Amino acid sequence: MIVETKPHSLLVVGSVGLDDVETRAGKRSAVLGGAASYFSVAASFLAPPRMVAVVGTDFPAQHTALFEKHGVDLAGLERVPGETFRWSGVYSPDFVNRTTIETRLNVFSDFRPKLPAGWGASDLVFLANIDPQLQFNVLEQAGKPKFVACDTMNFWISGRRPELLRLLERVDMLLLNDEEARQLSGEANLPAAARSIRAMGPSAVIIKRGDAGALLFHEAGVFSAPAFPIENVVDPTGAGDSFAGGFMGWLARAGSTSPQSIRTAMILGSVLASFAVEDFSLDRFRTLDLSEIRERFAAFVDLVHFEKIRL
Ligand code: AMP
Repeated sequence: MIVETKPHSLLVVGSVGLDDVETRAGKRSAVLGGAASYFSVAASFLAPPRMVAVVGTDFPAQHTALFEKHGVDLAGLERVPGETFRWSGVYSPDFVNRTTIETRLNVFSDFRPKLPAGWGASDLVFLANIDPQLQFNVLEQAGKPKFVACDTMNFWISGRRPELLRLLERVDMLLLNDEEARQLSGEANLPAAARSIRAMGPSAVIIKRGDAGALLFHEAGVFSAPAFPIENVVDPTGAGDSFAGGFMGWLARAGSTSPQSIRTAMILGSVLASFAVEDFSLDRFRTLDLSEIRERFAAFVDLVHFEKIRL
């Protein structure tokens, strides 16, 4: 990966929490989870992110140590009295459907994010999955970022729709899964859903389709990134956030948001997501190194490469 331009700074706000997860491969309770956790650690392989979030006094120090080990700047991670965000979910045996058993916002209910000095000038901002009101608060404190991307989910699309719509007017790119794109737009067809969402504000939309990959709709047309075929999927939790981490991490490292950089970012997003699902929680990232990322990136090039022929 050769990069010649000056890297961009990267800020993320989103959930940091403890998850209870059950998949065909097993069960884990109170493991590290949260959209901002997956995002930050995935991004850290490409560029150091700045994290804005809150945890309670029950948040284990070993998790903070993992973020630090990965060079995540924690000046915006508050620790307050109370319980950390909790989420629990169960996956169908084919990993296609996920049922949320419980979401407890806990310390996120009263969270008022305050950006540390200097962070308002961050070049790239990622509003990872959390209450759109909190995403908005962070955006208001950020000066004029070069690029703002945002993720959301069914929980907020149904529960905080007006706040989400107000936020979307100020976002450059929205990432969401196919079911959420249909829910937000009211359109069953994905290109139609993307067109309707682009009319809400974001000039680009990425629709994540699990093991069917991700589709980017933007000014330059449509681009498709496959999901890497993984034989041993263990836990799909955080795949979307890890995709976003790889995606934004590349834009930060490349110092560019050009259409070409965005295509490369889609592939690096798919690379990081493909590792995230190989183990529970963020466990695969604990042993992951840059050489494995390079190898899988090369495997992606082979996966999608085909000859241009004249018919
Ligand atoms: P993903 O699988 O990419 O959708 O992300 C899963 C992560 O999102 C889990 O680790 C959860 O802790 C977190 N999460 C689940 N529901 C919410 C929610 N309503 N708001 C914010 N984060 C959530």
